[in-house]
Amino acid sequence: MTMAPTAPVLTAPRSVRADVPTPLVPEALAVLAARTAVALETSLTGFLAAADQNLGHLETQAAHDVQALLRATTQRAAQAKADATPRRCPVCGQPLTRCSAGHARTFQTRFGDITIQRTRGYCKRCHKWRTPADTALGLEESAGYSPAVQALAALAASKLPVAEASVVLEHLAGVKLPPATLDREAKRQGQRAQRLRAQLDQQAATEQKQLELILEPYQVIIQLDAWNIRERDAWGETATLRRRGHEPERWHWVYTGTVFRLDHRGETAGGRPVIVQRGYVFTRQGLDALRDQLHAEALRRGLGQAASVLVIGDGAVWIWRLADDRWPQAKQRLDFYHAVQHLVAVGRALWGEDKEQFKAWIKPLVRQLKHESAVKVIRQLDEALVGLPAGPAQATVAREVAYFHEHQARMDYRAAQRAGEPMASGPVEATCRQGQCRFKRPGQFWSTVGDEALLCLETFWRNERWHLLFPHTAYDPARN
Ligand SMILES: [Zn+2]
Repeated sequence: MTMAPTAPVLTAPRSVRADVPTPLVPEALAVLAARTAVALETSLTGFLAAADQNLGHLETQAAHDVQALLRATTQRAAQAKADATPRRCPVCGQPLTRCSAGHARTFQTRFGDITIQRTRGYCKRCHKWRTPADTALGLEESAGYSPAVQALAALAASKLPVAEASVVLEHLAGVKLPPATLDREAKRQGQRAQRLRAQLDQQAATEQKQLELILEPYQVIIQLDAWNIRERDAWGETATLRRRGHEPERWHWVYTGTVFRLDHRGETAGGRPVIVQRGYVFTRQGLDALRDQLHAEALRRGLGQAASVLVIGDGAVWIWRLADDRWPQAKQRLDFYHAVQHLVAVGRALWGEDKEQFKAWIKPLVRQLKHESAVKVIRQLDEALVGLPAGPAQATVAREVAYFHEHQARMDYRAAQRAGEPMASGPVEATCRQGQCRFKRPGQFWSTVGDEALLCLETFWRNERWHLLFPHTAYDPARN
């Protein structure tokens, strides 16, 4: 393909801004465009004549017909942009030295492979070789994929197991990425997402947020929970490890948090309750990581200006330690249904298989817990415990009574209902279930590095920050 500028044969779209020189289309492209038009015309004629073809056949054929033109156009534009990129370090801006042109690299795009020649130079300030064109084109942090393919790989692999993701991608976007390649690229993007998350969290924690004018005081709700995934660290060493009597897998906690403003709860048109704006955190990097990520997410969701904060979770000790440590002013509430489960445990110990007695005993207690006070319920549990002879039932009841005493202050369900606050941690439990649907399938194992990368991609998607990772996904050509 000749790169010499020639008279424009195809007119540039009217939307091109006046200060940007209109890219000239070389003759080769014009010939290809004319050939594509003929191919489309032929396909259309064939479609009209074929009684056994519906519109789907034409859609498939037309997409195929334009593929070569799109690929050539993309290659031509990428090369022109590479040529126009200043020879400066993309990190520090320093002019590059020892520049040499003609470094070829092939990238997979949505329209097929393209090869471009780039200029490389040395940055004396960073002491690194740089290829500024790769940065300008969004290609530098990839194993050879265009930004659109990077985003497709990241989305597909964070939503589906890679074998399925690979098939779906080819079917929907015509992009061929074998499972192993797709997996590697998605994890690479996930690691990039982790670095960006660290930056954003740092910003949230240090930024003096411009105080907005608050018209109505609002409450921030933070909910925490955890689920586990199966990890395998020693890839390729399974047989050796087993011979030595070690099973090379283990379960690992994925800590999960969600945060929203109470006034951001609403209803769908069908009357189903929804939370309109909500932040999410998934991490397998331990409680410190959860605490930092969730705090940053809460700050982004208005924690700094909240009139009050409420933390809801089940009875897990780590939840309340974290809440005491990170949000000491927050009100704490035990999930109502977990409290009921513990009443059920007492009931079973007291009444065994006697279902009638069990029901008659538990019903008023659940009602009192919900509509009256925990103090009243605990008093009755204390009395039940006193009357029990020593044995397994007594041990169970004693343990559960201790649980109720420990969480008494977190069981203010009547006050919650009066204030219109949630009594339960349903939203975070639903989030955990969704995470498990993707990350905890039968026969699935995760590497300790790979799972955090994909979990991080999932949070970018859910938190509506995908465009910070892949800016082109927020770009709307129709409005440009
Ligand atoms: Zn530099």
